Amino acid sequence: IIRNMLKNGFQNLVGSYHSRVPSGELFTLSPGFTDVPSGVRLVHVDLTRQHEVELFFENEKPEYVFLAAAKVGGIYANNTLPAQFIRDNLAIQTNVIHAAYENKVERLLFLGSSCIYPKDAPQPMEEESLLTGLLEPTNEPYALAKIAGIKMCEAYNREYGTKFIAIMPTNLYGPHDNFDLESSHVIPALIRKFHEAKQSGASEVVVWGTGSPRREFLHVDEMADASIFVMSMEDSILHEHLLSYPKPCFVNVGTGKDCTIKALAEMVQDVVGYEGRIVFDRTKPDGTLLKLLDVSSLAKIGWQARISLKEGLHETYKWFLKR
Ligand code: GDP
Repeated sequence: IIRNMLKNGFQNLVGSYHSRVPSGELFTLSPGFTDVPSGVRLVHVDLTRQHEVELFFENEKPEYVFLAAAKVGGIYANNTLPAQFIRDNLAIQTNVIHAAYENKVERLLFLGSSCIYPKDAPQPMEEESLLTGLLEPTNEPYALAKIAGIKMCEAYNREYGTKFIAIMPTNLYGPHDNFDLESSHVIPALIRKFHEAKQSGASEVVVWGTGSPRREFLHVDEMADASIFVMSMEDSILHEHLLSYPKPCFVNVGTGKDCTIKALAEMVQDVVGYEGRIVFDRTKPDGTLLKLLDVSSLAKIGWQARISLKEGLHETYKWFLKR
């Protein structure tokens, strides 16, 4: 049940203005949440409001919290709504992490992002690269909020002995993603653009930037899997890998493989079956040039991604067509 909720939740929250936390087996805080598994009760909470969060935790007393809720978006949204990205994320995570401590939550998993790492971090990026350099300016406010969340988990573990850990996903994609062209990430945007161009018979599709930045993409089902894997680790393993300060209390999750935006665009073109041209709009930002995670820490503990990008794109396009 948790896995299904996470799969839906991760992508639903990408598309929504407000936040949702699929947390534990009974509750999800999700205004737009669909596909509710039986036995699950929905509780709507605005996580940016401290009082609402306090009441939720006091009433429901969750044991395990998956903090997937965030204000998220692609390069354009991050670059144009910096105040909302820093404020909403700081508010959500501060409220939830503190309430989890006060209500003696057994374990909490905080979802971060690969953009927490410095823009010039050696590739692939290791957990130890955190706070070693300047951030990518297009998403600095979001990244700063996520870094604060990680450090808050670490500080609570040190001071209060909590088991609050974090996981840093690379760029996610899959069913239930946000396909709005202004606020989405690159994969849903390209699926929609190629699909609509195919339908209307347009001769070209515009792809932002130069096409040369490289990105790594993880299917949302794998993100759900990895989250449950980390939350189910035995106490001794958790302590050894994520709770022995000053070792990082977080771990990267990705595929360990990247590709250029140009190669991605050609792959989506192929999956959709569009025969026109690809044109690059160089007036749009490229963002960071390289963003590949070192996924060896999680591999050592025993988790690896399996779904190939091609397979995942086909499956996502199938879902898009159904919807
Ligand atoms: P980022 O990984 O935080 O930069 O987020 P995005 O997924 O939004 O963008 C990844 C890369 O894809 C950037 O270099 C974008 O310029 C590029 N890109 C190309 N076309 C698009 C598009 O239509 N939408 C988005 N969001 N990005 C695009």
